[in-house]
Amino acid sequence: MKTIADIYKYGKGPSSSHTMGPEKAAMLFLEKYPNADNYEVTLYGSLSKTGKGHLTDFVISEVFSGKNYNITFNNEKTDLLHPNTMDFCAYKNNTQIGFMQVLSIGGGEIHVVGTKSKHLPDIYPHTNFTDIKEFCTDKGITIFDYIKSVEPKETFDHLAFVWEKMKESVKTGLKTQGTIPGSLKLTRKAGYLFSQKHFDETGETKENRIACSYAFAVAEQNASAGQIVTAPTCGSAGVMPAVLLYTQQKRGFSDNDIVRALAVGGLIGNIIRTNASVSGAECGCQAEIGSACSMAAAALCELYEMDIEQIEYAAEIAMEHHLGLTCDPICGLVQIPCIERNAVAAMRAINAVNLSQFLRGTRRVSFDTVVKTMYRTGLDMNQKYKETAEGGLAEVFFE
Ligand code: SF4
Repeated sequence: MKTIADIYKYGKGPSSSHTMGPEKAAMLFLEKYPNADNYEVTLYGSLSKTGKGHLTDFVISEVFSGKNYNITFNNEKTDLLHPNTMDFCAYKNNTQIGFMQVLSIGGGEIHVVGTKSKHLPDIYPHTNFTDIKEFCTDKGITIFDYIKSVEPKETFDHLAFVWEKMKESVKTGLKTQGTIPGSLKLTRKAGYLFSQKHFDETGETKENRIACSYAFAVAEQNASAGQIVTAPTCGSAGVMPAVLLYTQQKRGFSDNDIVRALAVGGLIGNIIRTNASVSGAECGCQAEIGSACSMAAAALCELYEMDIEQIEYAAEIAMEHHLGLTCDPICGLVQIPCIERNAVAAMRAINAVNLSQFLRGTRRVSFDTVVKTMYRTGLDMNQKYKETAEGGLAEVFFE
């Protein structure tokens, strides 16, 4: 497994696979062929079907701005290496001088076909939760001790940086009003939700209102192509900040405590990414929101200094109850159901932590099993429920 720092990327929404990945690919190609007369970019699969809504063409246009370029959406080709495939061609004097096929494999990561992509090295000696738990139990150390023993110091600096950025995206999202770009003309709700304080508000209602408004704030920033932190993706970027910021404010945890929690949540995301997928185009929304919920649940357990068994149980519950969740964004925009879904997952993460505390020692399904199940379910899922905007809500909305 690679560094957990790679789970948390700071960049432009609304989609790590549809904006961050393609932006990175376009920059790489342009760097390789800076002097071509013109460039042809072809988007396939999910990038073609929901690329417009996800602003794929917009970010690629920004990279090629000032050059002659053309972007084509190709829905015909189906024998693709990955649902998010793109071709780049460069021409000089009417002759093709460069070609690159790139796969946007989720979480902002890309793979250049036919090359040994500069993959980050595997630094973890283990690849699943069971082995990590066994190792930690044998050594009498916590999961965070384990992460600290593997990761370089820079990882923790990065986590401190992303925590600042997560807080910033909540703050900006709460104070920004108006309409989210796109054909749905959706009104931002984060600030409104935050301000809905009732005089007889109970603790539970307050928790719901505040944590959900934070999730809305980040998800609305993401939908508006604002700067966010993937956790583990853009579409699910609101879950972790919502849960962690609300808990920090409620319980007075320090930023260093939050870095610890981000590390443990990051390890959970890393295990999912290694053994399954965090890409909605590959495995549906269970891979994005389900993973974010698992990460948030584990992070919260770490904040509360719960033990490894409780961390596993909470992360498992959080994923188990997202199994089968489809990706069906209306008009291909990361707005409905995505924004609300971040808020619902934030509450579910808090709920999973509570259950893991009450029901300690009764878990029957391991975290590794639920991750495998999520992956198999995702592979079996009908293609139209995997970020194509052709099934589910996306289909019935216009009926
Ligand atoms: S439905 Fe889920 S996976 Fe699909 S775009 Fe929205 S947040 Fe991402």
